[in-house]
Amino acid sequence: MGRPGSDTYDTIVIGAGPAGVMAALRASAAGHVLLADAAPLPRNKSCGGMLHELTQDFLREWGGVPESIVVEPRSVAFRYVDWDRDIRKVTDLSFVNVDRAGFDEWLLSLLPESVEVLGGAKLAGVTQDGEGVIARFGSGNDATEVRCSFLVGADGARSTVRRALGSGTAAAYVTLQDFVSLSGDLPPYFDCIYIRDVGAGFGYGYLVPKGDLAIVGSVFYPKTKRPSELQDRLLDTLRSRIPALGPSVRREACAALYVRSMADVVPGSGRVLLAGEVGGFMSPTSGEGISYALRSGSLAGAAIADAGSDALPAYAASIAPLAADIRRRLRWLPLMESRAGKYLAGSTPASIVSRVTRGL
Ligand SMILES: Cc1cc2nc3c(=O)[nH]c(=O)nc-3n(C[C@H](O)[C@H](O)[C@H](O)COP(=O)(O)OP(=O)(O)OC[C@H]3O[C@@H](n4cnc5c(N)ncnc54)[C@H](O)[C@@H]3O)c2cc1C
Repeated sequence: MGRPGSDTYDTIVIGAGPAGVMAALRASAAGHVLLADAAPLPRNKSCGGMLHELTQDFLREWGGVPESIVVEPRSVAFRYVDWDRDIRKVTDLSFVNVDRAGFDEWLLSLLPESVEVLGGAKLAGVTQDGEGVIARFGSGNDATEVRCSFLVGADGARSTVRRALGSGTAAAYVTLQDFVSLSGDLPPYFDCIYIRDVGAGFGYGYLVPKGDLAIVGSVFYPKTKRPSELQDRLLDTLRSRIPALGPSVRREACAALYVRSMADVVPGSGRVLLAGEVGGFMSPTSGEGISYALRSGSLAGAAIADAGSDALPAYAASIAPLAADIRRRLRWLPLMESRAGKYLAGSTPASIVSRVTRGL
């Protein structure tokens, strides 16, 4: 297990995803920071690697998305696909297409040297007392306790920090992604695919070219049975009409936050702040999470650096616009999840699909 170099820090950040890196970066303006992740770093997060315009805007402060992590086709337009009716609606929402592992490694490189970055350090529990926060890493003989004034939980959809706070655990989608070989080019689209008969629990699929490969992904509702079989069915169905899709070279399983109501959005408790998916910050309608993670992580770290003991109320106030954005998107969710809603876009002019997609 990775061991922290000190037994006290001003801030400990748990999770080295976009929320955690931004929280560590901002909090480091006012103290000694430990950024710890259970995975070896740099990590490999299962992801489509599609950077939304909001993410591109956010990253301008650091010179924008670096060329070295962009893959072909460099830019892809979001396209809605009603597979059964063979309808495709191209929107004007475009994403930068990146290698996600490269993106996460680049984010880590933005951290100042003063931030201690520790991989292979799994948080086991968190407690708070009158003087601050105690983080417990590892278990048995390997367990170690570290103190801090503030802790940021940025440990993703299945957060240990949120569970320890007793703030209720948000549900999670199950996701599967196959990287498939290609025998020809795919058009430069990020296809969001609705198909009726993949099976119970299947939400939607997506297809995006990624350099020499393509990603075919599925999003399943919580508790879906045998998602792997459904993913095989999706692949067979897509291959029947897209002959360029070859065999899978790799399959990844992951979890993604399933935001259902504003009760899922929780800024934290006491001296523990929650950022990224842990705090409920993700688009409930599109599954886009990187821009929410970057923005909420940055605000959490800034609140710690600027507001001291009032960090939590300062953070809760600063995330109000993000929370309002999630509230607005949640209103669309019942329609989007209904059978009729999933197919509505197929009968709607492309300009309107474009406008609605931007809002979602
Ligand atoms: C299959 C899939 C495809 C996606 N595609 C896109 C996309 O194309 N574009 C987009 O914008 N969003 C996408 N998302 C969402 C996006 O990846 C996430 O919303 C974003 O990474 C969340 O960032 P985060 O920092 O909150 O958490 P994460 O990136 O999930 O990072 C959490 C970190 O916490 C660590 N951790 C967990 N538990 C512990 C513990 N106990 N102790 C220490 N560390 C711990 C984990 O190892 C992990 O590194 C996708 C998600 C999935 C699952």
